[in-house]
Amino acid sequence: MRSLEGMWTLVEVPSAQEHKYTGVRSSSSALCLCEPQTFPCITWLRRASRQLGNPSQRRPPARPPARPERAPTRTLGEQRSATAACRGITQVPNLVFWSLNALFLVSDTSGKPNFISRYRIQIGKNEPVDPEKLRQTIRAVLFNQFVISFPMVIALYPLLKRWGDPCRRELPTFHWFLLELVIFTLIEEVMFYYSHRLLHHPALYKKIHKKHHEWTASIGLVSLYAHPVEHVVSNMVPLVLGPLLMGSHLSSITTWFSLALITSTLSHCGYHLPFLPSPEFHDYHHLKFTQCYGVLGVLDHLHGTDTMFKQSKAYERHVLLLGLTPLSESIPDTPKMK
Ligand SMILES: [Zn+2]
Ligand SMILES: [Zn+2]
Repeated sequence: MRSLEGMWTLVEVPSAQEHKYTGVRSSSSALCLCEPQTFPCITWLRRASRQLGNPSQRRPPARPPARPERAPTRTLGEQRSATAACRGITQVPNLVFWSLNALFLVSDTSGKPNFISRYRIQIGKNEPVDPEKLRQTIRAVLFNQFVISFPMVIALYPLLKRWGDPCRRELPTFHWFLLELVIFTLIEEVMFYYSHRLLHHPALYKKIHKKHHEWTASIGLVSLYAHPVEHVVSNMVPLVLGPLLMGSHLSSITTWFSLALITSTLSHCGYHLPFLPSPEFHDYHHLKFTQCYGVLGVLDHLHGTDTMFKQSKAYERHVLLLGLTPLSESIPDTPKMK
C-alpha cells in the first residue's frame, strides 16, 4: 500500500509545482520525491538528473534554519539605564572608597603628615604598616570589589528594577531620601550585628571571619578585607537589602553605598580625627574580638556585648572630637600598675 501511495503522488503532483516539503520543482523528467525510499529507482533518477545539470532537480540552496521566537530584547534605552545603574551603584562608591583610602595610606606607609598620624588610636601599631600585609589586603579588597560586589549588583539589578526602577525620571524628595537613609541604617545595624555575631561562632570564625581579624589594629582598607563569604553575608547583603525593599532611586542607592563605604573606612582607619565620627567602637572590636559587634551600638547595648567597652578608656574617647588636641592626649591611658 505504501508503494502505491508513492506512485499516486507521482501522478498527482502538477508538473511545475514546487513541493511544499522538499522544495523540489516537479517537471516531466523530474519526479516528485515524497517517499523516494520506497522506490530505489527514483533515488537513482534524482541523483542522475542532478548530475546532468537539470536546474529543476538541483538541490535548492540550503535555507537558513528558521529562528526560534525570542522574547523581546531590551531596548537601547533600557540597556543604557542598566549600565548607568550598575556604574552608579559600583563605580562611584568605589572611586570614593579608593580616594579616601589613598589619603590614609599615605599616613599609614610614611607616618606623614604628622597632623594625621598624631590622632592614631593604637599608638605604636602600624608605624609604618607592614608592606607585605598591605599588598595582601589590597589584593583581597580588589577581589571583593570586582569579582564579588560587581557581579552581585548586576545579578540583583533585575530585582531592583522589578521593585522600583532605579533609573526612573523622578528624583526622590529630600525628606523621602532622609527617611530612606534612616531605614537603610537600621536594616544594616540589624543585619550586620547578627551576621557578624554568627561569624564569631567557633565553627565559622576560623574558616571565614579570622581573615578580617588578622588586623588587630586596623587600617581603612580593612573595611573590605574579608573572606568572600563574609563579604557577601556581612558587607553586601546588609547594604543592598534596604534599597531593594524600598525600591530606591539610583541617586539614593549611590549615595547610600558611598556613605556606607566612607563610614566603614573611618571606623577602620585607626585615627580618631577631629570633626569626624568616632572610630573607637569598631577599633575596640578589632582589639578585643568579643565586644562591639554592631555599627551603631544599639544592639550591643541591648544584648550586653559592650560591657567591657563601657568600662574602657576607649569608651571615654568615643565622642565627636571638636578640638584639635588628640583624645589620646586629653584622655590618656591609665599607667599600668607595676
Ligand atoms: Zn572590622
Ligand atoms: Zn568580628
